[in-house]
Amino acid sequence: GMGALLAQQAAVESSLPPMISPLQPRLDRSMSSLTIPPPACMLRPLEVPFRYLFGPGPSNVPPRILAAGARPIIGHLHPEMYEIMNDIKKGIQYAFQTQNNMTIAMSGSGHAAMECAIFNTVEPGESVLVAVNGIWGERVAEIAERMGASVHTMVKAPGGVFTNEEIEKALAKHKPVLFFLTHGESSAGLAHPVDGIGDLCRKHNTLFLVDTVASLGAAPIFMDQQNIDILYTGSQKALNAPPGTAPISFNERACQKMFTRKTKPVSYLLDMSHLSNYWGNDGKPARLYHHTGPVSGFFALRESLAILAETGLEESWKHHKEVAEYLWTGLEDLGLKLFIREKDLRLPSVTTIAIPQGYNWREILQYIMKHHQMEMTGGLGPSINMVIRVGLMGYNCQKRNADLALAALADALRNCKKSKA
Ligand code: PMP
Repeated sequence: GMGALLAQQAAVESSLPPMISPLQPRLDRSMSSLTIPPPACMLRPLEVPFRYLFGPGPSNVPPRILAAGARPIIGHLHPEMYEIMNDIKKGIQYAFQTQNNMTIAMSGSGHAAMECAIFNTVEPGESVLVAVNGIWGERVAEIAERMGASVHTMVKAPGGVFTNEEIEKALAKHKPVLFFLTHGESSAGLAHPVDGIGDLCRKHNTLFLVDTVASLGAAPIFMDQQNIDILYTGSQKALNAPPGTAPISFNERACQKMFTRKTKPVSYLLDMSHLSNYWGNDGKPARLYHHTGPVSGFFALRESLAILAETGLEESWKHHKEVAEYLWTGLEDLGLKLFIREKDLRLPSVTTIAIPQGYNWREILQYIMKHHQMEMTGGLGPSINMVIRVGLMGYNCQKRNADLALAALADALRNCKKSKA
């Protein structure tokens, strides 16, 4: 309460240098040189409600990972921090199934990894091919356009699948330096097949860039075996770390392209020549200051990768599939229709439900939030007004959580009177 706050304030003030009068200046506004007073909200404690995060992310973070993030800060260039970053690199190599040396975690969310991949491997004017079947292809096309690439898109409706023949035809036509595909299309609920595409990209001298932000740990991906040249993910989905760090890996082909470029990447923060040194990947003896890494975020990411290593990737994939199938059956038992008809193409981490006839999806989601403290979300980008999304990822991926989600949906269907969408 207020008493504790004042005591805290007094304690802080008694520790200030003696030249500053300890008691009065911050309380006596008339004596202050400040025109902006301390905001009243800042004199109240932080409040964070409990929520079931059963949307497409962030996911609830298990206590063990939260505790890792709450450890004391150390310097971002201390040897112990370098060790932790080395561990993270190994954890990512395992999660991606790659031996790539050029493996790091970006300081930033999934978008930082998207921009890092494109800014470093593409130069202005070069051709980029993007598969668009949901929002993530749209985003990558825009990012590539902004840095001056010549962008070509292959477009399908949300959840659409590109055949390898279609992809090869487009590779031959546009001769891109980079081809982008989303593995776990979270706006559509699609797990896009990846096999064979890496080989086609090699044949056409194209780098294959794959987004696994929403699928890593939940659906199989094999970076090396599938000849994926650049792969990235996010921390806040099946990995269950807080948002704010993003693993990314480049193979030799990708390094060859990005380290022989003629122009410097447009972003200093995302420049892999600096980041590779910061992560100790460039073979130089000294790891130099480039930017201050998110120390707590790295602690938490390390813990999440440790949990994945302990669980085992195959076990994690199997578990996500089992719980997802349990959820899908339950949804169909409620009379709901799944947006991705073919079971094998459904993303196990994020399920998309076709909006039930006559219901207003916003009303359903608001009802579930209000009465069940549970987040589910609507569509995103091209899938807006088409789907409701339910995510059960990592720590949240449990049959009892599927039961909670199903009960909340059943309750909403009973109580949200059918109205025009
Ligand atoms: N790609 C996919 C497939 C995603 O699901 C997301 C996050 N919803 C992103 C990229 C972007 O990640 P972030 O929000 O962490 O920047």
